[in-house]
Amino acid sequence: MNATNHYDAIVIGAGPAGLTAGIYLSRAKLRTLIVNEGTVGGQMVLTHEIANYPGVESISGYQLANTMKKQAKSFGCDIRANVVISGLELAGETKGLTLSDGSSYTSDSVILATGGRSRTLGVPGEDTFKGRGISYCATCDGDFFTDKEIIVLGGGNSALEEAVSLTRYASKVHIVHQFDHFQAFEHAVEEARNNPKIDFTMESSITAFYGNDKLESVDIKNLRTGETSRFSTDGVFIFIGYIPNTELLKGKVKLNQWGEIQVNPDMSTNIEGVYAAGDCIAKRFRQVATAVGDGTVAALSASAYLHNLKTKKQLIPA
Ligand SMILES: Cc1cc2nc3c(=O)[nH]c(=O)nc-3n(C[C@H](O)[C@H](O)[C@H](O)COP(=O)(O)OP(=O)(O)OC[C@H]3O[C@@H](n4cnc5c(N)ncnc54)[C@H](O)[C@@H]3O)c2cc1C
Repeated sequence: MNATNHYDAIVIGAGPAGLTAGIYLSRAKLRTLIVNEGTVGGQMVLTHEIANYPGVESISGYQLANTMKKQAKSFGCDIRANVVISGLELAGETKGLTLSDGSSYTSDSVILATGGRSRTLGVPGEDTFKGRGISYCATCDGDFFTDKEIIVLGGGNSALEEAVSLTRYASKVHIVHQFDHFQAFEHAVEEARNNPKIDFTMESSITAFYGNDKLESVDIKNLRTGETSRFSTDGVFIFIGYIPNTELLKGKVKLNQWGEIQVNPDMSTNIEGVYAAGDCIAKRFRQVATAVGDGTVAALSASAYLHNLKTKKQLIPA
């Protein structure tokens, strides 16, 4: 084992969950490496303004990510960004990681913090107006649409529950759904139906987004008749599913039917020495604050595991 490539902990993912884990682990003097597929910061760097992270009234996602990165590095945490993991070995006491550039690392523990992504609609204009009228998170962006008329796309529990929560802000919420029935619990459907601020356009979908600096209108196609009409709107919230970034982990750690990592309250997985945190785990609420909380718990649990492991090794005569 090459000592310079061996770490106490390797964290996969440098969003708020992974960066927090890196801060706690390296501050506890544990040799820590964070590896990240893209830019450091995860979904935070896609966020123009974060207004609900406690202790900072309003901050750009990029700035918050950069502060967390600096904090981790100041405690000695190594970070390798824009890398691709080509091999991962989680079973066994020593964990192994190989990158596509050929470098390889080992560790005594691993924290999985790979986050996730909202399912996108994939129609013209969606990429252009993301964060400029199109949102995938009511808790994050609802307040920006106070007294505005908005559209919610989707017909599952998330779509209906978030549509109801958005009526706290918006003057009108139009739910657009592709089928003639909803795939949500009856109580969620009832609550939406009984809300006077909500109306429904069934068997329909959005086929294009238009605007200049920000979203101004959408094309809605009636999927039964094939007819398309253009509607003005201030915002569209898309709730058509969530995809955890766990493709790499299939067969290596226990995932549920939706591909989310199953964890215990201490963030341990079914594999000894492997913990998980943030949006990639099975949970209901996905926010920066919850990711930071999960990352803290995972790091403290991993620290305790590493302490026990070292004590055990010292007790075994060479
Ligand atoms: C547009 C938008 C706006 C939002 N606004 C807010 C807001 O205002 N307030 C709020 O609290 N929350 C907001 N959120 C939600 C918040 O950003 C997420 O809940 C949070 O970032 C999740 O943190 P995480 O660390 O679990 O995962 P992520 O932030 O998703 O980070 C995961 C990281 O892991 C990396 N990764 C994935 N797979 C691999 C792999 N195989 N190998 C290596 N690295 C990998 C990714 O590249 C990424 O950098 C918003 C989200 C979006 C998309």
